Amino acid sequence: MSIHAPEYVRKIAPYQAGKPISELAREYGLQPERIVKLASNENPLGIPQSARDAMAAAVADLGRYPDSNGFELKAAISKRYAVPQDWITLGNGSNDILELAAHALLQPGCSAVYSQYSFAVYALATQETGARAIVVPARELGHDLDAMRAAIASDTRLVFIANPNNPTGTFLPADRIAAFLAAVPRDVVVVLDEAYNEYLEPALRFDSSRWLSDHPNLIVSRTFSKAYGLAGLRVGFGLAQAELTDLMNRVRQPFNVSSVAQAAAIAALDDDAFLERSYELNRDGLARLQSAFREMGLEYVPSYGNFVLVRVGDAAAVYEGLLRAGIIVRPVANYGLPDWLRVTVGLPEENDAFLEAFARVMGR
Ligand SMILES: *Cc1c(COP(=O)(O)O)cnc(C)c1O
Repeated sequence: MSIHAPEYVRKIAPYQAGKPISELAREYGLQPERIVKLASNENPLGIPQSARDAMAAAVADLGRYPDSNGFELKAAISKRYAVPQDWITLGNGSNDILELAAHALLQPGCSAVYSQYSFAVYALATQETGARAIVVPARELGHDLDAMRAAIASDTRLVFIANPNNPTGTFLPADRIAAFLAAVPRDVVVVLDEAYNEYLEPALRFDSSRWLSDHPNLIVSRTFSKAYGLAGLRVGFGLAQAELTDLMNRVRQPFNVSSVAQAAAIAALDDDAFLERSYELNRDGLARLQSAFREMGLEYVPSYGNFVLVRVGDAAAVYEGLLRAGIIVRPVANYGLPDWLRVTVGLPEENDAFLEAFARVMGR
């Protein structure tokens, strides 16, 4: 190798995304319209009409750079979450927020703490900076907050928590997170990644932004990619007190959120009817998948997101069998879960198509 890249960069295992529909169509000679993709926790309803209209209007201005400070989107978020505008960071997806936190706070010689089986981007964001990863063993496939608190070292600058977690679908109630925040040293920043928050049933939802005033070391991360149906646009946001927000802004790429994405997000944020429809469709689809797995006698992790992790045995073979039937799900061997598949909740007919093919491939 003649290129001098840092060793910690060479050691990174690149992110493995869900297989795109177009790729499966090419590889297996299938009609793209007949392929069912339940692999990336996307919203099966697609984009809301309100966002579609806002995007169409925004196209006229695409010759210009976006508002780099995202004034109007921040104003909308500020109103919705009752936080000042200088507590808001916009991201190219919430993935960007995770990276901004890592780039602002980590460097070689310090560490980040996250759970085994938590979202793959925590490892990537940590490794990119040359910082050390402290991976805390999971408890029942979820975060063990006591062990995570205990794992914080003197060089730890960042802790990542996914709630609900992907790929396992586990959830930590508000009081557990609050107790964790109270126990963490004030100079250790906690990223609370709530990408699936909108899929929680109302009784479990809590407004974590209310913890921000008491915790200058908290970043709450949210996304428009999941329940809001805008995954392809790449827009998310982080909420944190002004000092942390200012630090993240220093490492933020100018114009990191496109003008079309900003316009769509403003419209989607106001579209309560779409959000409600997404929630209900997911609640029903999740119940359908989980009861089918129960009937098949398969182990699964009761999910609080828009996907279910199910134990199938030889997951690589089952994944392959489903691909041949035109159904894309997500293998999770890269998470250290080679017996499991993650299945995103789809439209009712997509769930049915999956279950029909799944029963066949599983020989049931
Ligand atoms: C999908 C996901 C995200 C972010 O997705 P973006 O599209 O980058 O907003 C963040 N965290 C978790 C746990 C996710 O599953």
